[in-house]
Amino acid sequence: MALESSHHLAGSPLGKETPAQPISEYFGELTFGLGEMRERLPRDAFNELMKTLELGRKLSKETADAIAKAIMDWAVRKGATHFCHWFQPMTGLTAEKHDSFISIQHSNHSELKVIERFTGSMLIQGEPDASSFPSGGMRSTFEARGYTAWDPTSPLFVVESAAGARTLCIPTVFFGYHGQALDNKTPLLRSVQSLSQEACTFLKLLGDVDVKSVMATLGPEQEYFLIDREVAAKRPDLMMTGRTLIGAPTARGQKLEDHYFGSIPTRVITFMEDLERELYRLGIPVKTRHNEVAPSQFEMAPIFESMSIASDHNTLAMETMKRVAARHGFMCLLHEKPFAAINGSGKHCNWSMSNDKGENLLDPGHTPHQNLRFLAVAAVVIRAVHKHSALLASSIMSPGNDLRLGGNEAPPTIISIFLGSMLEKIFETIGRGEAARGSEREIINLGVGHIPDISKDYTDRNRTSPFAFTGNKFEFRAVGASANVSVPMSVLNAAVTDVLAEASTRLKALIAKTGSRDEAVITLVRELISESKNILFSGNNYSAEWREEAKRRNLPIIDSAADAFAIWNDEKATEFLVATKVLSREEIVSRYNVQLERYIKTMEIELDTTVALINEYVVPAVEKQLERTYNVQRDVKNDNLKSALGRRTATLETAFADLLQQCDALKRSVDKLADTHDEAAKVAHIVRECKPAAAKLRAVADRAEQEVADELWTLPKYREMLFHHSVK
Ligand code: ADP
Ligand code: MG
Repeated sequence: MALESSHHLAGSPLGKETPAQPISEYFGELTFGLGEMRERLPRDAFNELMKTLELGRKLSKETADAIAKAIMDWAVRKGATHFCHWFQPMTGLTAEKHDSFISIQHSNHSELKVIERFTGSMLIQGEPDASSFPSGGMRSTFEARGYTAWDPTSPLFVVESAAGARTLCIPTVFFGYHGQALDNKTPLLRSVQSLSQEACTFLKLLGDVDVKSVMATLGPEQEYFLIDREVAAKRPDLMMTGRTLIGAPTARGQKLEDHYFGSIPTRVITFMEDLERELYRLGIPVKTRHNEVAPSQFEMAPIFESMSIASDHNTLAMETMKRVAARHGFMCLLHEKPFAAINGSGKHCNWSMSNDKGENLLDPGHTPHQNLRFLAVAAVVIRAVHKHSALLASSIMSPGNDLRLGGNEAPPTIISIFLGSMLEKIFETIGRGEAARGSEREIINLGVGHIPDISKDYTDRNRTSPFAFTGNKFEFRAVGASANVSVPMSVLNAAVTDVLAEASTRLKALIAKTGSRDEAVITLVRELISESKNILFSGNNYSAEWREEAKRRNLPIIDSAADAFAIWNDEKATEFLVATKVLSREEIVSRYNVQLERYIKTMEIELDTTVALINEYVVPAVEKQLERTYNVQRDVKNDNLKSALGRRTATLETAFADLLQQCDALKRSVDKLADTHDEAAKVAHIVRECKPAAAKLRAVADRAEQEVADELWTLPKYREMLFHHSVK
């Protein structure tokens, strides 16, 4: 308390006054989107751009130049000196290559003059020398060139570096010479487009004859840890891998559950306010912030947006979090499992669709028609998640998420859906077949006409479900904190698109057969739900019984990223991606290769860092402790003390012997990795030998930590990393 009030007396911790400006006045001031284009572009140029967006036409050179000019004028006024094509390579991060706006103009007297210049072709297409971005073997070296192309659906923005330099970022897609996607954004954009087309066809059959487009929406809730930067800098594992590879859990852990929704520490709230100000200026509508379950863990959630913008905004927010954290003396950890024995971080992806009138298709409405539409769309999503659960599960797997999923903090990678009792009951009623005769009256009598406001049903939540209906949207909860949302969202969009197409065909036939649209829709809903019964589960997803039950139900169980690769390599499981035009066969194969390669690299870094930590930190600390104990023991006369010290020495010696032995064992299995040339065999070796060896080594290192004097243990401990907020 004393600390808090002294802060207040001294003014804000940063020593500057917080601006009292309303958010609405500066929201998006660093962005240039369609609104600004309309204001600043010549009318013809703007109209041509809109046509381009609608019809996928090519922009004329004149229009492109006019747009580029307007953008440059704006960006230079915002202080930008450079521009970059900003994109999402398959590494899961974002990439950028900067160029300055300057160009040399030759005047009449052959004097050189520097001017700012930015043309339509510089805006629209770039050729970065990006031969080292992963392409999964698609770009052979002689055409090792990737191209970036402006994605006008996402606003341009200006970012400021720590040193104050400002750069105009142009959201782009990244592709190879023959148009193959080399990034995560291209498939996302394709999936959004396919989804819109199939959803429109389906909605028209349902009676929404004037629907023009359907938009997938996404609201990702981002969890993260904040660790003191100076402390983190002393942990080579955090620096190299983003997580702690050794470290004994603290006695306290998250036992008291006192962190969740507790009051936010001063230093953290200062960071959050600063972060939010930056995000607002970048047009990112962050809405909620709170403490999470684990000590030093927090969450931030935006208001949902259209899928492609939400995806750009999430990656941009992740980058901004890291940058702003550094400014506040923090390291922001986005890894799925930075610390053992306490919760890791996820990213719940809230997903829905809305039509061009802005109506949420997963919102039960006020009329029987809206409700019928809601039930039909919900049934399609349920069927889609069931049909494609293997690839959906695979789309969220990574070495980091391997460590988080399946523990008692996050669902195992068995996809199931939780609907809540209200929706479950409605589907049950329909399932009994009573509505098949289906006049509108009968539908109303079934309770379908007046679906209560499910979104208000806060009592009915199942936190253990990987895929839950939460009132007016589905929440994909198994996504990891560091994931690029474009990957699982492309798969989800494609899955729903695939089933929408199938549902439209079936609905047409049913309408022809029954002669009644409402009856046909009810029948379709009944069939879809009955075919997908196995994916519905309202029990405890963390329990061992569920695993057994899931086996009986024939649901895919994918325990690790290594298992998930096989699914990406399975033509049948991925066929719907090709059918929905989200990825070509060649692109799927390349993604499989990239994942394999990245998995191996990530694991190699972790394994090598583990060995280094043991040799450079743990072994010397144990040696010193032993030496100290031997010294004390030597001169002791007291018999009791002598034998007690003898036991202590024995414990230490055993720990030391185990440590050296397990370290050797790990080293040997890592060495074998270098002799394995086939990548799938490398992955198998990592899973079968290296990972268990590393786990054994960690266990003995963590035991040794508890036997060694604190002053001899040079690595910061869990308590120093996790509980600093209570002292600072
Ligand atoms: P809770 O997870 O407790 O339900 P909220 O209702 O606040 O929390 O929603 C969490 C996230 O879901 C927010 O990011 C919110 O914007 C997003 N969300 C709400 N409605 C939709 C929707 N129709 N489509 C996508 N995301 C949505
Ligand atoms: Mg949520």
